[in-house]
Amino acid sequence: MTTIPPASLTGKRLYRVGIQAERREHARKETKKAGTLRGGTAGCVTTESIVFGQCHRVALARLEGLEVEPDDTSQVWFDAGYANESAWIAKLELALAQPEYAEYTLKSEEECAVKWTTSYNIDVTGRPDLMVYKGEMPIVGFELKGINAVKAGARIWCEDKPKTDNLIQAAHYMLKTGCPFTLVYSYRGRSIVPKRFNKYADKLVLSNSKSAHTPTGKPKKGLEYSLEPFTKEFLLEFEEGRLYYVREDGTKVKTPITEQGIDQWYELIPYMKENKTLFVRLGAYDLECNRLYYDPCKWCDFYEACEVFENNYDSWMDKVKLICEESKV
Ligand code: SF4
Repeated sequence: MTTIPPASLTGKRLYRVGIQAERREHARKETKKAGTLRGGTAGCVTTESIVFGQCHRVALARLEGLEVEPDDTSQVWFDAGYANESAWIAKLELALAQPEYAEYTLKSEEECAVKWTTSYNIDVTGRPDLMVYKGEMPIVGFELKGINAVKAGARIWCEDKPKTDNLIQAAHYMLKTGCPFTLVYSYRGRSIVPKRFNKYADKLVLSNSKSAHTPTGKPKKGLEYSLEPFTKEFLLEFEEGRLYYVREDGTKVKTPITEQGIDQWYELIPYMKENKTLFVRLGAYDLECNRLYYDPCKWCDFYEACEVFENNYDSWMDKVKLICEESKV
């Protein structure tokens, strides 16, 4: 006769113990990183003082060693990102093992670490996901992003445009390595999309058997469309200091992101710290400089700090410390 396993040996229990051990290890590494800026957290400041990408205020908090501790649910979410990277590494290793790619080697994370120093003598360190080398020469780098949310997947797939923060992160690595980079998305779900994406019916799959169109050719109302698993790659290019991305169909799209703006974003953070000042809040604009349909600040752990202490550096920092402390309980 078999019996149920002991409570200490269920899969969920062991996973949780693993999460806690991983978190302790992460916290230990993060303590060492305090005082440096991260390549994985990148943004851009435009000449109109609009901040794109990651928030400079969040980066300031991280520079001070302040971070909100993720809960177990968030950890499950993060694991999807690690799983995505592992899947890509496994496939690309196999690809480069083929005779036609014999002259290339694959390097990941620590092996292709990036480091540079701001004018405030603060190091910026980062690890691109993957880079292909020919001998000692980097040939191409990849930023690999897994998409977990159907809305994000539908936007990237249907509108054929990358997420701003992902694009800036890849662009930053491209600038600092001097190597071409691409941004690769993978969506592994199969879900009904929100109705506002139904206008992209030709890029989606009808989730029931009825015809998708009226006799006049218009999409029928009330139909549900499904987003199927996909991969999508955007190639990056700088032209006279301005970032463009190139879609798979070859169209080239200009962005408001510039080389100078990315460097300025990294300079801004130590400037804020040294001068005890908080720069304007994160911009709520997309890559076409249209206002986003949502307010990114409302999704931020430090929303309350910015709402209450918009421009008061010390009070803002105290509130952020409190938020981070409370997240550990
Ligand atoms: S609330 Fe907005 S401005 Fe404030 S830290 Fe968060 S993202 Fe940045």
